[in-house]
Amino acid sequence: KLHNTILELKGNIRVFCRVRPMLSDDAPGADATVCYPTSVELAERGIEIVQNGQITPFTFDKVFKQNASQEDVFMEISQLVQSALDGYKVCIFAYGQTGSGKTYTMMGPEIPKESKGLIPRSLKQIFETSQTLAAQGWEFKMQASMLEIYNETIRDLLLKSNTGDSSSVEVVGGRTKGLTVVDVTSENEVSKLLKRASQSRAVGRTDMNEQSSRSHFVFTLNIDGVNPHTEQRVQGVLNLIDLAGSERLSKSGATGDRLTETKHINKSLSALSEVILALGKKEDHIPYRNSKLTYLLQPCLGGDSKTLMFVNVSPDPLSVNESLCALKFAARVN
Ligand code: ADP
Ligand code: MG
Repeated sequence: KLHNTILELKGNIRVFCRVRPMLSDDAPGADATVCYPTSVELAERGIEIVQNGQITPFTFDKVFKQNASQEDVFMEISQLVQSALDGYKVCIFAYGQTGSGKTYTMMGPEIPKESKGLIPRSLKQIFETSQTLAAQGWEFKMQASMLEIYNETIRDLLLKSNTGDSSSVEVVGGRTKGLTVVDVTSENEVSKLLKRASQSRAVGRTDMNEQSSRSHFVFTLNIDGVNPHTEQRVQGVLNLIDLAGSERLSKSGATGDRLTETKHINKSLSALSEVILALGKKEDHIPYRNSKLTYLLQPCLGGDSKTLMFVNVSPDPLSVNESLCALKFAARVN
């Protein structure tokens, strides 16, 4: 598989690009800003941004064009998801400006079923596979947690008494203290938790989509498997992360709260790229502590863990500057 060659060549970090289709709200009839190289060897990996007649080319491990389905995307990551059951620590991020398709890629709409995103698809696969492994004597204990990071504060999204106050969650020595973890045995159970998390994200917020785009959403599934017959043990983790919108200050018209939010977001996204860059270069010092996000994910970034970043891109000509920025960011860590 192409997959494995890439892994061997570049360590355990990969970057996939996904371009969402044009939507009715996008600038109509404008010239295409997203193009693809015609060469055979770049057919699946290249993308070009056209701005004022100038072409900027990028290459990633994989490029999903406008018409790629959720199934197409999942097919490329199912092996990676599967490796969490083999005991690997896996992180999958969605990066990009608000409106570029991060949440669609991660969660997707529930209906129709085909449009479900990679979180529900991953869960389905993991629980199905764990059942197959159970027939070979494996016993799995799975635990889910869900949190968001807003202005460098961690909010527990599965708190029972939902007051919205969960500032008691702290990261200490690479472990979260005070975070709700729930035993789960099926995809359906996790779906219910995801709904609860989404409701608790919306508490006290007027515009759910607007507000959620200013925070990072982190879904974690801890997988603990033992096989008493063979005395084998695996401890895998699957982290699926819908990052805050990557748009820059000018566009968010930032003053007051907005300015604070944007500064926090910029700081944590650049901290993430610094960590991934340092890991890619196999540096001795990895700067995990520069943001809550990287500190929280420290145990799952580095070592023999596996990281995949989606860079989501909108084809809307009005977004061309943000698209360029997002692709440059992703190209840096690639
Ligand atoms: P983000 O989470 O990055 O802010 P969304 O995932 O909410 O962006 O996507 C913005 C809009 O585009 C939504 O209406 C979403 O349904 C739509 N969309 C995104 N990606 C796709 C896709 N691949 N196919 C169809 N619609 C999409
Ligand atoms: Mg979103």
